[in-house]
Amino acid sequence: MRSWSFFGLLWQLCSLVLLYSASAFAESTSAPEPPELLLAARVLDIRSGSYLTDAAIVVEGGRIKAVGAATALRKQVPESAKIIDLRDATVLPGLIDCHTHLMARIADEPNGYALNLLTKSQAYRALEGAANARATLEAGFTTVRDVENEGSGYADVALRDAINAGLVEGPRMRVATRGIAAVGQYFPFAISPDLTDFPTGAQMVSGPEEARRAVREQISHGADLIKVYADWRNPTLTIAEMQVIVEEAHKAQRKVAAHATTPEGIRNAVMAGVDSIEHGHRADRAVLELMKSKGVYLVPTLSVIDAMVAKSPDEWTSDKDRAFLESMRQSVAIAKEIGVKIADGSDPAAADRHGKNAEELEAMTRRGLKPLDAIRAATTSAADLIGWPDDVGAVEVGKFADLIAVRGDPIADITVLQHVKIVMKGGRIIKNDLPGDSR
Ligand SMILES: [Zn+2]
Repeated sequence: MRSWSFFGLLWQLCSLVLLYSASAFAESTSAPEPPELLLAARVLDIRSGSYLTDAAIVVEGGRIKAVGAATALRKQVPESAKIIDLRDATVLPGLIDCHTHLMARIADEPNGYALNLLTKSQAYRALEGAANARATLEAGFTTVRDVENEGSGYADVALRDAINAGLVEGPRMRVATRGIAAVGQYFPFAISPDLTDFPTGAQMVSGPEEARRAVREQISHGADLIKVYADWRNPTLTIAEMQVIVEEAHKAQRKVAAHATTPEGIRNAVMAGVDSIEHGHRADRAVLELMKSKGVYLVPTLSVIDAMVAKSPDEWTSDKDRAFLESMRQSVAIAKEIGVKIADGSDPAAADRHGKNAEELEAMTRRGLKPLDAIRAATTSAADLIGWPDDVGAVEVGKFADLIAVRGDPIADITVLQHVKIVMKGGRIIKNDLPGDSR
């Protein structure tokens, strides 16, 4: 009997864990509230690429209940409905950034990465993450896929859970936790070999069984996806190592994102079965065609490079640098031309990059994507890549009421998305920069 009651208790605990996992989207508000009627000059229909004018959105229980003509929907909601008047603004779905590092504020200085590990506690890193999360949400990004926490343990899991519990403001998060790299092939570099316990930026592995163990550990500690480093200037993890990573991750319904910039690294990662290539800056036509044939996403992360060039243009003038920037441009242009799936990701890892996520959409248009393509990369495509196509990424019935409002027309001028005026997440207004008479 004793053992039965022990297992009974264990079972109850397991049920609680399952219940908790299933309610990852649960918001902290519990009392039912009257519906909200949001009136908009126009609402962007992402799929058709057209605007619905004189539009309205009915929000109830944090989700979108109806979208349509304002005159019709006004009649459908009760008197008690709260009116949110955005008849001078354009409404879009909340944006999605598929490549963030919310736990990273790395100083732009020699050894900045090592100093970040050396001088900040995990607790401080978590609080930095909370600040970055708020900045990201206020910039209109209501969902992120956080692809590696840069040596902050499992602080990204804590941040995700704290946001879901309503303790801090931030986007919905999919987190990769520690990332997996080949021993010695990721930050920090050039640490004294005597410092054997010096923290690392990723979980370092050598061989398929260590790689397998790392995936299992990370999933057990809350990883929603797995991030691997397929190269670091040269190919690093082997195909065999990445294959077991993909096998373990997919078995647990987790996707695998691979950092890869070289054609060889990209090929290795794609052959191992990863779901997305992060950066791909040196991707050539052959590997892009391979990606297309396997349905692998490209997350090009252009704006982080553009920002570096803008900051120190004199450091980007060598033939080698120019060739790199040109290959980066071509990789996106060819990807677009042959139909590789593209998702938005801005790669912020410094204090001044969090909240600048929308610069990535402009950066994509500078490499040949139309504004609507860039918006799709940050909405419907991104929702598909992160595995939440039914919940986020479009203003559609049943999805979360994650909405943003801007002045102007983002299809004519993509930069208006860098000045988001209203952010709503799950039906709750997080930020409102429109004049007082607008609600
Ligand atoms: Zn990154």
